[in-house]
Amino acid sequence: MENNKETRVRFAPSPTGYLHIGGARTALFNYVFAKGRNGKFLLRIEDTDTERSKKEYTEQIIRSLEWLGIKHDEDIVFQSERFGKYKEYADKLLKDRKAYRCFCTKEEIEEKKKNNPKWKYDRKCLNLSQEKIEQNLKEGKPYTIRLKLPDTEIKFYDHVRGEMKFHSKDFEDFIIVRSNGVPIYQFTVVIDDYEMGITHVIRGDDHLSNTPKQILIYQALGFDIPEFAHIPLILGQDKKRLSKRHGATSVEEYRENGFLPEALVNFIALLGWSPGDDREMLSLEEIIKEFSLERINKSPAVFDYKKALWLNGKYISTKSNDYLFPYFKQSFEKHGIAIERNEKTEKILELLKTRVKTLNEFYDFGYYFFKDPETYDEKGINKYFKKENSKEILNKLIEIFEKTEPFTEEKLEETLRSEAEKMELSAAKLIHPLRLAITGYTVSPGIFETAVLIGRENCIRRIKKALDFLSQNE
Ligand code: GLU
Repeated sequence: MENNKETRVRFAPSPTGYLHIGGARTALFNYVFAKGRNGKFLLRIEDTDTERSKKEYTEQIIRSLEWLGIKHDEDIVFQSERFGKYKEYADKLLKDRKAYRCFCTKEEIEEKKKNNPKWKYDRKCLNLSQEKIEQNLKEGKPYTIRLKLPDTEIKFYDHVRGEMKFHSKDFEDFIIVRSNGVPIYQFTVVIDDYEMGITHVIRGDDHLSNTPKQILIYQALGFDIPEFAHIPLILGQDKKRLSKRHGATSVEEYRENGFLPEALVNFIALLGWSPGDDREMLSLEEIIKEFSLERINKSPAVFDYKKALWLNGKYISTKSNDYLFPYFKQSFEKHGIAIERNEKTEKILELLKTRVKTLNEFYDFGYYFFKDPETYDEKGINKYFKKENSKEILNKLIEIFEKTEPFTEEKLEETLRSEAEKMELSAAKLIHPLRLAITGYTVSPGIFETAVLIGRENCIRRIKKALDFLSQNE
């Protein structure tokens, strides 16, 4: 193990869009890595691109992290407030001759590139005389600042990828400060990671090719180089890079779609990482305990929205009625059904919470507890309403509902079973059409419990409606 230095990591989103699943995973991996080592997780907003960065995105990123329970330590660092710092370091590099001013115009460079796409900056301005530089400055000629690359091999150990090797000759003397004075990403990242005392940089694979350039900047500035871990991409089921096409991608959408934060955290954690056993439900605390960079997969993670739904359903089923009731109520009230909290609604919630996959689905899964079905399941119609004896069965059901006394779950079951026997039919032959008639679906919670909750009169009316439907569709 390395020395006793405190582990400090950061999540550094650019606020040019909402926090999406990929970003949330980077944040989570950083967070759990730090917390597992009693370290700090810092947040830095990379908003130097003033045109594309939006305050509303920054706010939303912060809100989404908060919702997920990924809490940052210390104050948020905003790059847009640090231009002075970046200038200081750029000046230092100029003074140390580790960087130089380049007065070549964009047009000039584009012209050279046009004839040779592999063209690298030819160091035309590397050895300008001091006099020439001063004259150019006096004339107000715009310039960029370029890093003067040494001739060197660049090696680093990546905690996911292993040993990485590059050479500085693969790069040109790249620009670190643009002609408008704005420093580029590679430069600001290095300065901030250094000043924030970052010990481990954990970020997406798409940054892997930036790392050698950043190491050259660390070296030029004489800074210690942090450790690196680049996490593989997330792909959709079709093995294409995850995008809108694959379903909800922003964290906010998941929240709006009725996901629980702990389910989403659990789901995200398993995108390219696993605890080393077959557990699929892990709390944030458990993820912190089990997490290690070495267990991150080298190959891309495959995103499966169905799995996210499945996990969410699992989490919902473990929640208390107190927690779920407001969502339950809201889901019905959105459809104009007022809900009071009483014995009946508690029971309905209890039945539905093991079935819904999101907090928004209570109405869809259980609207029939409050109003007559509007349609019947297509397949169900063919299977249960189009039999020779369908009418006879429905009439028998009306009779059963009328005579069952008291109207309880047990008594209803008993009556139905004995009537089925008399008809020399299995109970299922009565139960299936009953379910379709009173719920509109071919699946539901226990039919007798459901029927009692719907109520005797409502059930009878619905069975009569089913009979009407049968007559009209003969
Ligand atoms: N701001 C960069 C991004 O959003 C991340 C920079 C980094 O992690 O080094 O992709």
